[in-house]
Amino acid sequence: MENLFRVADHEDFFSRRCIWVNGPVIVGAGPSGLATAACLREQGVPFVVLDREECIASLWQKRTYDRLKLNLPKQFCQLPKLPFPDDFPEYPTKKQFIEYLESYAKHFEINPRLNECVQSARYDETSCSWRVMTVSTSGSTRSEVEYLCRWLVVATGENADVGCGYGYSGTEISLDLCNHNASPSMVVRSTVHFLPREIFGKSTFELAVMLMRWLPIWLVDKLLLLLAWILLGNIQKYGLKRPSMGPLQIKNTVEKTLVLDIGTLKKIRSGDIKVVPGIKRFSRGQVELVNGETLDIDAVVLATGYRSNVPSWLQEGEFFSKNGFPKAPFPNGWKGNAGLYAVGFKERTLWCIL
Ligand SMILES: Cc1cc2nc3c(=O)[nH]c(=O)nc-3n(C[C@H](O)[C@H](O)[C@H](O)COP(=O)(O)OP(=O)(O)OC[C@H]3O[C@@H](n4cnc5c(N)ncnc54)[C@H](O)[C@@H]3O)c2cc1C
Repeated sequence: MENLFRVADHEDFFSRRCIWVNGPVIVGAGPSGLATAACLREQGVPFVVLDREECIASLWQKRTYDRLKLNLPKQFCQLPKLPFPDDFPEYPTKKQFIEYLESYAKHFEINPRLNECVQSARYDETSCSWRVMTVSTSGSTRSEVEYLCRWLVVATGENADVGCGYGYSGTEISLDLCNHNASPSMVVRSTVHFLPREIFGKSTFELAVMLMRWLPIWLVDKLLLLLAWILLGNIQKYGLKRPSMGPLQIKNTVEKTLVLDIGTLKKIRSGDIKVVPGIKRFSRGQVELVNGETLDIDAVVLATGYRSNVPSWLQEGEFFSKNGFPKAPFPNGWKGNAGLYAVGFKERTLWCIL
């Protein structure tokens, strides 16, 4: 690769190769890593992108359900410098999104080093560089590479490992099951803001962004909730309690978001999807709920969401907090010390998903 300068490329004592990167190392070849790489490419800055999987955008390619579509209009999901094709629908499908990402990588000549899982990264004061250790396995062969670089871009996403979810997948999977003649029960333990995906034919997201240009957040919240009440009715009576704080205000204070409904509520209202409280215990073919009720079940779907894996590999305690997100809230948590950058961590932004 033209942007790599090998300082050592031999099977050494620890069977580890050491590679000096003349530019940043970007960890993660998802949309955030690709977008960063494309912008660097345009500026003529060399880089190396690493990903643990054997494909780009592994979240979308390997860990999402087939019926998934983007839940925000396409203009809010496209990456910099290359818009979605005109013939894509307003809410592109998973397949179209992957196609777009593949062509994006091709267009900007981004060739990630795939199947290289970053095990650790630490800043070395002596050499003033980041030391990024990766492991790749192919069959029974395991090889280690150490990358040395001046800049490190963390783009491993908010959804790297299984963690605690916000309800998006659960509501959509329940809807899918229902549409295929199953009778799902959806466990909802905490409060959640359900809003319609569209209000009077306009994307709720777009409407909120527009209103926030002129009105304070609390007023936009009130308007959104009023419109949601007109369109969805009182959802509390179905066991879906709304948080006391408005949907937009909540983003600044707690790590919680909202669900843009694509039809689940209709099924809840008709009784086709049952909303139940938390689970106390599982037994063969049954679950006991915290309210004492017992349900007969055929299968359990864990839609418990994801979490960042940054603490498992990045040896740094100033910029990232223990939950794997930058300490400074979005949009300020993008740049740390000693050439450390983060991209794609927007946990508390308006419509962060899951
Ligand atoms: C079901 C679902 C639906 C969503 N829908 C939307 C939507 O409609 N609109 C929207 O804007 N967003 C949506 N999102 C949010 C989603 O987070 C983004 O779409 C996007 O994938 C985030 O991009 P990213 O590059 O930050 O992270 P990711 O896509 O998660 O990419 C991170 C990459 O880092 C790699 N990686 C992780 N750890 C390591 C490691 N240690 N070493 C090397 N590589 C590593 C992973 O393999 C992965 O390829 C959705 C998410 C989910 C789960």
